[in-house]
Amino acid sequence: MAYRLLIHSAKQVVFVAKNGEKVLVGDGQKVAIMESEGIDGISIVIDKEGNIKEIGEDTEMQKKYSPEEFDQTIDATGLCILPGLVDGHTHPVWDGDRVHEFAMKLAGATYMDVHKAGGGINFTVERTKAATEEQLFTSFRERLDRMLAAGTTLVECKSGYGLNLETELKMLRVIERAKHDLPIDVSSTYCGAHSVPKGYTASEATDDIINVQIPHLKALIDGGELSVDNIDVFCEKGVFDVDQSRKILVAGKKIGLNINFHGEELNLLNSAQMGAEIGAMAISHLEEVSDDGIDAMAKAGCVATILPTTAYILRLKQPPVRKMIERGVPVALGTDFNPNAFCLSLPLVMHLACVNLHMTMDEALIGATLNAAASLGKATTHGSIEVGKVGDFVILDAPRWEHLIYQMAGHDHIIKYVVKNGKIVKERK
Ligand SMILES: [Zn+2]
Repeated sequence: MAYRLLIHSAKQVVFVAKNGEKVLVGDGQKVAIMESEGIDGISIVIDKEGNIKEIGEDTEMQKKYSPEEFDQTIDATGLCILPGLVDGHTHPVWDGDRVHEFAMKLAGATYMDVHKAGGGINFTVERTKAATEEQLFTSFRERLDRMLAAGTTLVECKSGYGLNLETELKMLRVIERAKHDLPIDVSSTYCGAHSVPKGYTASEATDDIINVQIPHLKALIDGGELSVDNIDVFCEKGVFDVDQSRKILVAGKKIGLNINFHGEELNLLNSAQMGAEIGAMAISHLEEVSDDGIDAMAKAGCVATILPTTAYILRLKQPPVRKMIERGVPVALGTDFNPNAFCLSLPLVMHLACVNLHMTMDEALIGATLNAAASLGKATTHGSIEVGKVGDFVILDAPRWEHLIYQMAGHDHIIKYVVKNGKIVKERK
């Protein structure tokens, strides 16, 4: 066959961007849309490599292509087509859920209360250390499959429940396997500085990461055994301070990793300015970010990866997203899937972003597509429906795309197909 997939007769195609924009910023963001009103419908052609070859009116495309040239065809009559969603921040490799802590939190315990009671990250670290690589891969695969069903076709995945070389590498190998074996694109992040391991000071842990873990990682990357994309640190009072975080992030950047870290979540430390200074591609959380931090990020073009589930579950202050958008920071979204925030669904995250953070539906979709791709350095290939980009789509059985956000937690019904690289990977029967 000459081509992989033909989608035809679509009612609405949401390109998100259509002029090659790498991010969308500022007030009044609008997604680019093509409507079928007044024409037969809209077609999209995916080439043999799984990339978008052409988009146009059905009648025009019928003149150029014949249906026999395609491996697969989707009749999208009455359906809306969106780019595959991009999840900018997840912690999906771990063993042992923390459902027991949910009751404590509902009763008013804070993140740090739970941490001190032996819960939180340390609990997950113990369980993840004890799990085999196979056990971790099995649960990870199931989680990725559920994300895919919710429309995610590119996801950032962090290590960070090992905190020592052996377990961090085990997690990164699990993520690496998913990159090769599963129909979802993965951007992998080394997050060895997610927490200070028991028996260490933050300063000792910083030295171990810089002098032992990162050099080992570099050897594996150079040898072609691992392909790590980003480096992350939990920069927080009582965890890694701004100076320690800077040293770790810069060491990661030196071996070719993109800087993408947790900052300004529980306390204002001015880590946003530090991130802007060292060329961070993205900073996550930012509940406590200052005006100066916002301006520094806007000037540097640093993406704010906003995680509406965390503030919701921990009942934290909401990050000042409107201010970020007004001042020109590119805003991306992530589920922050982890044992604390068990959310695999970007449509639900977009809903929370609209209701709790006052984003418009257009801004939320841009945050869960193009801007999240930009936070991972993937905006040239992912995040919008444009010729040359990957053929990743979410196809909705709804008269307008906004139903994906409006019908709260309804994605399992609304999403009719998920397409990855021009192949149907999920289909609602
Ligand atoms: Zn996180």
